[in-house]
Amino acid sequence: MKKRKINKEALKKKEILDNKRFNKTILISFMILSLLIFTVLIFYTYRCSTLFYYRTRVLYGKEISSDLVCFNENKLKHHKTIPFKYNHNNFYVCSNNCKLSLTINYNKVAMALDAFSGDTILKSRAIIGLKKKKNPTIVYFKNKVNFNRYYRKQNKK
Ligand SMILES: [Zn+2]
Repeated sequence: MKKRKINKEALKKKEILDNKRFNKTILISFMILSLLIFTVLIFYTYRCSTLFYYRTRVLYGKEISSDLVCFNENKLKHHKTIPFKYNHNNFYVCSNNCKLSLTINYNKVAMALDAFSGDTILKSRAIIGLKKKKNPTIVYFKNKVNFNRYYRKQNKK
């Protein structure tokens, strides 16, 4: 009779312990899931900024695709830029205002100075690179030779 009582008590204790363990597992799973959802949400919300932050570091010293920059602002942009043809040349801008600014001040805005040689060049035919690391400002080059020389010189500084 006494033995059975002990067994019953032990069983009850075990049950309580199991419940506790189960609750703990549920809680941890829930926390991990929440953290995961939170991370994904943050990533999607700040995806462009994260990508942009990454680009200003990784693209330094590399040729930059025209559709990532605004020819009016001379900057690397968060989003893909809009191409348009003007005077038989392809230009890329981030907004209608920038398009307007480029076409109105065409002789000034559509041209750039080669960052290495100082030659005047048309932006639509230039090779584009980042002026500095961690900075969205871009520079233009007449050719790949000047491009390479510029970054070699920068790296020596
Ligand atoms: Zn722009």
